[in-house]
Amino acid sequence: MPHGKTFYLETFGCQMNVHDSEKVVGTLTSLGYSRVDRPEEASLVLYNTCSVRDKAEQKVYQRLQQFKRGARGRRFAVLGCVAQQQGRRIFEKAPHVALVCGSASYSQLPVLVSRLESGDQRVTGLEPANGEAFETSFTRRDNPHRAYVTIIEGCDKSCAYCIVPFTRGKERSRASGSILEEVRSLAGSGYTEVQLLGQNVNSYRDPSGECADFAALLASVALISGLRRVRFATSHPRDFSRSIVDVIDAHPVLCDHVHLPVQSGSTAVLERMRRLYTRDDYLRRIEWLKGARRSIALTSDVIVGFPGETEKDFEQTLSLLEEVRFDSLFSFKYSPRPNTSALELDGRVPQEEAGRRLTLLQEKQRAIQIQRNSGLVGTLHEVMVEGFNRPTGQWIGRTSQNRVLNFLAPPGSGSLAGRYVEVRVTRAGPNSLAGESVEQARICSNGLGGS
Ligand code: SF4
Repeated sequence: MPHGKTFYLETFGCQMNVHDSEKVVGTLTSLGYSRVDRPEEASLVLYNTCSVRDKAEQKVYQRLQQFKRGARGRRFAVLGCVAQQQGRRIFEKAPHVALVCGSASYSQLPVLVSRLESGDQRVTGLEPANGEAFETSFTRRDNPHRAYVTIIEGCDKSCAYCIVPFTRGKERSRASGSILEEVRSLAGSGYTEVQLLGQNVNSYRDPSGECADFAALLASVALISGLRRVRFATSHPRDFSRSIVDVIDAHPVLCDHVHLPVQSGSTAVLERMRRLYTRDDYLRRIEWLKGARRSIALTSDVIVGFPGETEKDFEQTLSLLEEVRFDSLFSFKYSPRPNTSALELDGRVPQEEAGRRLTLLQEKQRAIQIQRNSGLVGTLHEVMVEGFNRPTGQWIGRTSQNRVLNFLAPPGSGSLAGRYVEVRVTRAGPNSLAGESVEQARICSNGLGGS
């Protein structure tokens, strides 16, 4: 049976959702709730949902099904994109749910939760996702070293497969003064890394007019003292300007990594997807990035089996992978979503065929990653230490290029979490690197270390 004011929160989906959950955690904590690790122990169980792919949406209903019986004394809440998209229909599918709340309404959570506490059976927060919802006053950041900062909400593009403009509403940029003030205060309280977030950060336009565009904002953030790393996500190729590469060149504090989702290597498919750029446009941006002064890691997203994708189109995606040689890639089968224009397209690719293409694509990308990572053996990298893996005895670090680099450090180094350490790569796998801290290497070469 649940005890007192306790909550369990599970988050699905993107970094925007992860950051939204930090707002939810902060709000609930300020209301006197404490977080527990298992839903069985909680009086309030919340799922912050993602509806980008059907699979993610189904997962939430599966979770709710597990509690269909035996939910006595426990209240359930569905937050995020599925809440915004399905609204009150969630109550029909899962009658034991008591609260349905979209991301635009998180500032209303104190009121909504108090209505739950006073016994309301069905509570909703479903304003259209167009209001200002950048931060609540309670945001409780999970990670003490890296902080997410929302700079833009919503999206004005209309990619044929994407539900985000429907669930998160029109684009709203946050005033640069408020962003810079928040980043300064984060740096002042010990954060050394910030990640600027938005569905499409490249279309940022400062409503106060202080910063002309995203490149100008990035340059201002880079000057804030105390920061060692600044990242940003996600970029849209159409709005990715050359000036962003110039700013990265000028400010080493900006990380050597850009995630630029391509989705397909075929111009015909990109057109059907309404992505607003061609294969050549995309490759031009890659050229800018490869021409940068530092080596910038490139990562991307690909959808295979989009309606109308022919074998030839798919081969163009494979050839784009060869040409760009991404450092990492998120790849998925096309998943039809409600309220998207792709539903009206003909030329459905059978699931089996989409699966075959996905396997081929992932095999090719894996081979590319093995080659790229192997080329790093012997090189030195500064990593930010994210934690310790007890079973392997290795510290978990992340390079500026966003690669995971697990490493050994001399025993007795104390906790390295949050520190920056020089590490030499000794081994490479497809998804991560292994190495030893420079200090560890020195001890070993002096014959002072263990095995
Ligand atoms: S740019 Fe396209 S894929 Fe990205 S959030 Fe907007 S509509 Fe969705």
